[in-house]
This record gives sequence, structure tokens and C-alpha cells, in this order.
Amino acid sequence: MIKQIDHIGIAVTDLEQQMKFYSEVLGLSCSGVEEVSDQKVKVAIFPVGEVRIELLQPTAEDSPIAKFLEKKGEGIHHIAYCVIDLEGNLKRLEEQQVQLIDAKPRVGAGGHKIAFLHPKATFGVLTELCEHRKS
Ligand code: ZN
Repeated sequence: MIKQIDHIGIAVTDLEQQMKFYSEVLGLSCSGVEEVSDQKVKVAIFPVGEVRIELLQPTAEDSPIAKFLEKKGEGIHHIAYCVIDLEGNLKRLEEQQVQLIDAKPRVGAGGHKIAFLHPKATFGVLTELCEHRKS
């Protein structure tokens, strides 16, 4: 079902400062910054080969990223895998009684369809499945 790692989400408190680190110290180029209102985050995207690093800064106090930062501090927030047919995969996971955060896909950065599995079902690693928007 999984084709490859799509992106790694990293929770940050100061997006500008972190972007500086990724561009000036690691030498990566940012391909865009966007706000994902559904998740109340501002996202900066740094492609690394086929994988993207997504820096996530909360835009509201009730953002899931704000809660994560409060509990765990800055660091890796989730790993996202690229799949074909996200809805079919969610159905299959439900049939296997895997606990999901999103039983139905929602819209993530870049307009792609995404869904999160519950970290309790994935041994503490928040896991996202992502189906790319057909462009
Ligand atoms: Zn993600």
C-alpha cells in the first residue's frame, strides 16, 4: 500500500528561525510557505530528493501542533507515507481495527488528501497517509 515516504513533519515554535537553519546551515531550498487553515498551521516545505521536510508552526492556541509543542517541545511530529487510494486504505485499516484519527480524508498542505492514524495504534509514531492531488 505504501509507495514511499512523502514527508516528515517537524513541529517548530519559530518558523523563520528554523527556515534559516534549513536553508543557511543545511543548504536546502524552501519550495513554499503556506497556511493550512484546517490544521491551524503555517507550513514551510523543503524538498530533499523525493521526500519533503515540512516545518509546522501553529497559528492558533488550539492547533494540534501547539498542543504537541506544549507537551513534547520542538521536534519530529509525524511521518507521512504516500499511498494510492487513501479512502480504500482507510477502509482496510478500519477493517483491521486500527485506530484512526481521521476515518475520512481531509485536505492537507498542497491540497493533497491526508489522514492520520492514531499514535496509540502506531507505537507512538504519529503516522499520516497522503494521496497526492492529481494535477
Ligand atoms: Zn503531514
